[in-house]
Amino acid sequence: MTQSTDRNSELFERARALIPGGVNSPVRAFRAVGGTPRFVQRAEGAYFWDANGTKYIDYIGSWGPMILGHGHPRVLEAVQRAVQEGFSFGAPTEREIELAEEVAKHLPSVEMLRLVSSGTEAAMSAIRLARGATGRNRIVKFEGCYHGHADSLLVKAGSGLATFGHPTSAGVPAEVVQHTLVLEYNNIAQLEEAFATHGGDLACVIIEAIAGNMNFVRASVPFMKRARELCTQHGALLVFDEVMTGFRVGLRGAQGVYAQQIPGFVPDMTVLGKVIGGGMPLAAFGGPRALMEKLAPLGPVYQAGTLSGNPVATACGLATLQEIAQPGFYEALARKTRTLVDGLSAAAKDAGVPFSADCEGGMFGFFLLPQLPQNYSQVMKSDAPAFGKLFHALLDRGVYIAPALYEAGFVSSAHGDEDIRLTVQAARDAFQTLSP
Ligand code: PLP
Repeated sequence: MTQSTDRNSELFERARALIPGGVNSPVRAFRAVGGTPRFVQRAEGAYFWDANGTKYIDYIGSWGPMILGHGHPRVLEAVQRAVQEGFSFGAPTEREIELAEEVAKHLPSVEMLRLVSSGTEAAMSAIRLARGATGRNRIVKFEGCYHGHADSLLVKAGSGLATFGHPTSAGVPAEVVQHTLVLEYNNIAQLEEAFATHGGDLACVIIEAIAGNMNFVRASVPFMKRARELCTQHGALLVFDEVMTGFRVGLRGAQGVYAQQIPGFVPDMTVLGKVIGGGMPLAAFGGPRALMEKLAPLGPVYQAGTLSGNPVATACGLATLQEIAQPGFYEALARKTRTLVDGLSAAAKDAGVPFSADCEGGMFGFFLLPQLPQNYSQVMKSDAPAFGKLFHALLDRGVYIAPALYEAGFVSSAHGDEDIRLTVQAARDAFQTLSP
């Protein structure tokens, strides 16, 4: 493809004239890997086609929501029917109840939930509720976990444990993040020290239990168990941000994975997004009735949204949730994801490339590191230039993974065994470009 006929480049140039960086969300710009972003023309099943008409096997799936692949017939039909009935009413609908019922049915920790339009909004509102319910201001988050771009969450660790965080974005006043304590993921001693010092002031601990925003890092079972104990002991709420993992790693999300290993385990609040909207702007946060009833209009914690519970988004989410609740859905998805991860690992080994990988349900991650990292600073030891080379070698072979080494990957039920085989073959060739 010569430069003059590359529609992706043409569109990128046009976009950059009008949209900052040419994109409406930064990671899409390919800045971590270089090159021109692919502008998507259309998508179907496990594939999308770019503006040049080139086909890719898609392992991003809109960053997680497309668990059934693109344009699943049942979902498409539900959305088309909903569109005919009206785009938005700003008044309650039966479908919001149905969606809430479908979510609550699978998550024992969620007795009530509130629907919103993005994961950012859901996490921000969950934190406001945690603060409102406990009457405390301080919160704990972990380095490498992302909870959307609300001001109080755009924060990095201070110089020591006793100090609170610093903003990671211009435009966030230091005063806004002064209540956010940023700790190292999987560090039990640090968490214990934080509770010993600030326990009585902590409203909540928010965590990605299987962190997909530092590629794929699991909270260890002892760490999660201790986090649960400390929150209970000190009256802080344990907030599971399952925007990415909810209905993605299994029907009961990451909390279901930990409940299998820690008897009786439940978080106090759950933040959801991505899969529950099936690709439409829909997210939620939920928890026990007594807590959720502190929200307006019943309680003193204000939260609202013009498009919340949108009728087209709820139709899309509901149809998606009904499909993934079919018996055997997650078993098949997990098997496929495992085959992919094992295939990539074998290909890297044969090429002599340092590599480690993990997966759960339809979510996976890999590192150009010999061992799986346990926290953000270990993730950052990954070889970024080598990742950039691998990314482009895969892209050139029709495989589209996240254009940054700190992002997880997603397999959908539309990915066939042949897609996985072709991907592993492409990776075999791509790893050769990294071999010494
Ligand atoms: N929380 C987690 C764990 C996420 O992965 C994301 C987005 O990737 C968010 C929150 C923010 O969601 P949204 O991009 O819908 O605002």
